[in-house]
Amino acid sequence: MSEPSKFIFKSVLKALHYSGLAKAMAPVARGHGVIFMLHRVCPVEDAGFSPNRILKVTPKFLEHVITLVKRSGIDIISLDDVPARIKDKDNKRRFACFTLDDGYRDNIDHAYPVFKKHNVPFTIYLPTAFADGEGDLWWLVLQESILKADRIQTTIDGARRIFTTRTQKQKDTAFNDIYWWLRSQPEQEARRIVSGIAKDAGYDASPLCSDLVMTWDQARALAKDPLVTFGGHTCRHLALAKLPANEARREIAESIVRLERELGRPCHHFSYPYGDAGSAGVREFEFVTSLGLATAVTTRKGHVYAHHQDHMSALPRISLNGDYQDLRYVSVFLTGVPFVLWNALGRARSLLVGLKPAKAQSVENGKLAA
Ligand SMILES: [Zn+2]
Repeated sequence: MSEPSKFIFKSVLKALHYSGLAKAMAPVARGHGVIFMLHRVCPVEDAGFSPNRILKVTPKFLEHVITLVKRSGIDIISLDDVPARIKDKDNKRRFACFTLDDGYRDNIDHAYPVFKKHNVPFTIYLPTAFADGEGDLWWLVLQESILKADRIQTTIDGARRIFTTRTQKQKDTAFNDIYWWLRSQPEQEARRIVSGIAKDAGYDASPLCSDLVMTWDQARALAKDPLVTFGGHTCRHLALAKLPANEARREIAESIVRLERELGRPCHHFSYPYGDAGSAGVREFEFVTSLGLATAVTTRKGHVYAHHQDHMSALPRISLNGDYQDLRYVSVFLTGVPFVLWNALGRARSLLVGLKPAKAQSVENGKLAA
């Protein structure tokens, strides 16, 4: 999300909070439960150029969220219990789950002590190549390369682009332009481009994965605690919808088999890398269902409603995002109202775009991709 969009979204959240509208609309907007999505949990908040700070929250904020959820009368449950809970029409209590993607080691160092202290179950989705120390965390490689360089050059849509990256503003612009264009590209190609940028910048990305992500031994040790559940997150953390069908299915199936073998227990859960509509769609949801997994989560925003019992392979989540570390936002998220509005706007926008002539539509898409 761009800075202006973020500002507008935050203003809407504050307006919903202070006007009392979120509270008033909650009875019709909120679902049976929520699944929170986190990535990293680190005590120090990033200052300066750090576009991936959205993936980090502090342990203190996590603890405050847990306290808020409990105080709101919401049961915090294991992902294992979600399918039965959604089907249980007699249970009117709401539920919340905590999930963390990618298996960052700070989940052990900083998130686990908080979950343990509050006896809160949680799920970690671990890509197998990451636990092998061979993952390509290209979004961080791009950030570190831009941080290091005063100048970045790459080719975007066939045109050579040179970014001066001396100031934080210049670095932010370069990151946003390059990152969002890469997200629209075939992923192996995107990774090749980032690798070239890192090489030019003199940034050595080879130790990054093993520096940041837990090993299999660490995952095994953590998995001994009954509060902890591990789920699949593919082998190489590729956007599945961009892959040929057999490769996408293999990425899911092999990651589950490997997790079960390494951790010595069944794996019933899965998270789609990136998780947006361009990275996981109906084809991927059907793969997950055919593999007999109990749940799979996306990054589509929203509460979990009764109708999701027919869509257990495409569950929405709510991001606990580093840019939204404010309990006022979380209390509004718990009403469900912003997501109902967000999704209604998205549908309206799709309808409008769908009604435009083909030429106008392609121009708009071009602008969006840039
Ligand atoms: Zn991920």
